[in-house]
Amino acid sequence: MTAKIIDGTTIAKEIRLGVAEDVKAMQEEYDYTPGLATVLVGEDPASATYVRMKQKACAEAGIRSIGHTLPADTSQEDLMKLVGELNADPEVNGILVQLPLPDHMDEEAVLNSIDLAKDVDGFHPVNIGRLAMKDREPLFIPCTPHGVMVLLEKSGVQISGAEAVIVGRSNIVGLPVAMLLQKANATVTICHSRTQDLAAHTRQADILIAAIGRREMITGDMIKPGAAVIDVGINQKEDPTKKRGYRLVGDVEFDTAKEVAGAITPVPGGVGPMTIAMLMKNTERAARYALDA
Ligand code: NAP
Repeated sequence: MTAKIIDGTTIAKEIRLGVAEDVKAMQEEYDYTPGLATVLVGEDPASATYVRMKQKACAEAGIRSIGHTLPADTSQEDLMKLVGELNADPEVNGILVQLPLPDHMDEEAVLNSIDLAKDVDGFHPVNIGRLAMKDREPLFIPCTPHGVMVLLEKSGVQISGAEAVIVGRSNIVGLPVAMLLQKANATVTICHSRTQDLAAHTRQADILIAAIGRREMITGDMIKPGAAVIDVGINQKEDPTKKRGYRLVGDVEFDTAKEVAGAITPVPGGVGPMTIAMLMKNTERAARYALDA
């Protein structure tokens, strides 16, 4: 059996085109252009790349992006002051503070200080709390977990009643994905670094989500035949044939997994593009909230 490849690049492109059309309509109807403020603290090259990609996506969608870059030794107080100004700025609909923050900063306090209606990353505790509770809806769903759900839905994967196993329980991926899957009526198991006999769990999964950060850890023999496998991981693997000396691989060993799974996301080209697409969607949503206010 060779799995159907879930093409995140194409699905993300469709979503971004849809946002661009909606933004254009918003401009024509209300003479209003959504704005996303990005805040980058320090010079971590990966974070800087992510912020650049988000700004480029804004430009393509017709969203105004307002970039703030602060030095790594910025004080907590100064960062919070900036967030306060962005909260008050009517031209800013969404605020994205790129994580991780430098060690001396209190990430929780920063995320708590973002206006709930501008929390386009969806990490404010009230949004996360609503995600966890029955019959409550968050204003925004975190982008990568939301992207995972859209990939499953667009691929026609049956979620209600399915056994879903998530490997990883981070605040930004594993945990919110688990909450979304249980909201969609899957039976959810969360595995982590202390899980005994991981393979016994993963082999039960109709839907398997890998969000571990360990290169190619999930192998084909750990997958139930026909399962839908979503690989969130982004890891570097040495590859002398590449100019930069490495290529990107996921947390799933793609070559063995695709022989067993029914559907699978590649890395790159699976979950990665969806994260930015869902951020654009959340920013558009934030602008709609502002217009309705
Ligand atoms: P993280 O915060 O490091 O969390 C990793 C999770 O994996 C933890 O819950 C950890 O368990 C669990 N884990 C680690 N080793 C394990 C093992 N041997 N067996 C079972 N579970 C194990 O990572 P993250 O931020 O969630 O990111 C996960 C991956 O997704 C990374 O590769 C990251 O680069 C990628 N990512 C991709 C996107 C995207 O847009 N595609 C976005 C975000 C992240 P404990 O809780 O017990 O420590």
